[in-house]
Amino acid sequence: MSTFLANTQRYVEEACRTLAIPADVTKQLMTPHREVRVECNVAMDDGSIGTFMGFRVQHDDSRGPFKGGLRYHHHVDSDEVTALASLMTWKTAIVGVPFGGAKGGIAVKARELSEAELQRLTRRFVDGIHDIIGATKDIPAPDVNTNGQVMAWIFDQYTKYHGYEPGVVTGKPVALRGSVGRDAATGRGVIFALEELLTTLGESPQGLTAAIQGFGNVGTWAARDFVTLGGKIVAIADIAGTFVNPAGIDVEAAAAYARQHRSLAGFTGGEHLAGDAVLFTECDVRIPAALASVLTKDNAGDVRARIIVEGANGPTTPEADAIFAQRGIHVIPDVYANAGGVTVSYFEWSQNQQHFYWELERVNAELRKVMQRGFETLAKTRRKYDVSFREAAFIAGVGRVWDTTTTRGL
Ligand code: NAD
Repeated sequence: MSTFLANTQRYVEEACRTLAIPADVTKQLMTPHREVRVECNVAMDDGSIGTFMGFRVQHDDSRGPFKGGLRYHHHVDSDEVTALASLMTWKTAIVGVPFGGAKGGIAVKARELSEAELQRLTRRFVDGIHDIIGATKDIPAPDVNTNGQVMAWIFDQYTKYHGYEPGVVTGKPVALRGSVGRDAATGRGVIFALEELLTTLGESPQGLTAAIQGFGNVGTWAARDFVTLGGKIVAIADIAGTFVNPAGIDVEAAAAYARQHRSLAGFTGGEHLAGDAVLFTECDVRIPAALASVLTKDNAGDVRARIIVEGANGPTTPEADAIFAQRGIHVIPDVYANAGGVTVSYFEWSQNQQHFYWELERVNAELRKVMQRGFETLAKTRRKYDVSFREAAFIAGVGRVWDTTTTRGL
């Protein structure tokens, strides 16, 4: 079993123990409902055949249809997708959106494929899973290396089998019945989560510094909103390495550069350092917004920040978590901090059901409410059980799924 999956299981088991959930029910809660693995054969631009494995793990649907992103990355395997699907189950429960948990992925070096190849790959994947997805079954959304365009292809391919059904995916382009504000939602939710914590500390983002690992959807929007609130981004990183600027990175310039060049390679708005240097830059707030298991027992002692807000899924190992707790560093966990994405996905899905579309102000105001309520849940659970924010999050999420699972019965 991979470290990421083992760590995820460990948090769930601990929550089950705290809640005194019987062993048989613990097993039921932890076991994914369904795992699908499909071969995707793609006609490549050079005339050869590319064969890729696609995965969809549906973890739990006791609270509503399965819901979770779709990742294109060469690290994707059954364990990673299972861990991410499990996190979705607890995340949707923590913030109270009426979905279960799922995740999908294709093992592929996405950056090495042309746009046309990516489209064909996406359509072959839908050919393999169309029967198990749908607006009332399982609703994919963007994740690493997927975006609104990929969701549009999924929607289109699904429609060929089942007719017009925009609610089959979220994170669609607005022109195809997406929601305004969905592209910004995860990063925006990260900053709302930060604001909630800062309020309890009697602080505000004004004048604080932040370093962000991962400068894609989540990282760029978190950076933008942090700067809007008066903070300064002193370091950013993507696959091309770390870029440090104590005077403040020009976020819009960096985002435009990354969009145009598909990475920050060659960006001159900051000193270029090695890949993980972003983890050790002096700052108030650290936002991991790339991949899992980057904050470990080997580097947690060197991380310089007062606050860590997890935009990425699973960036901190349990050993690193313990070191951060000892060092008095506040960690706002992924299952709450990055729930803004699935929350606005829920708004998008609701709009699709009603064929009535909201304005951005409403999306942002409702997202703020959900993140506030989520933080209250964490804070209350934390006080009740005298635990960390992460433990509180898992206890709250697992408790709600336990309740619906038991009430529905076998
Ligand atoms: P993305 O593909 O838009 O961006 C990923 C970024 O991470 C890119 O800038 C990439 O260059 C960078 N990256 C990849 N490997 C790296 C490495 N080794 N070191 C430094 N940077 C690296 O993906 P995203 O949608 O922004 O997702 C980022 C994280 O947030 C993932 O963990 C994802 O699961 C999580 N997340 C995303 C959403 C969403 O709505 N997109 C919602 C919840 C959680």
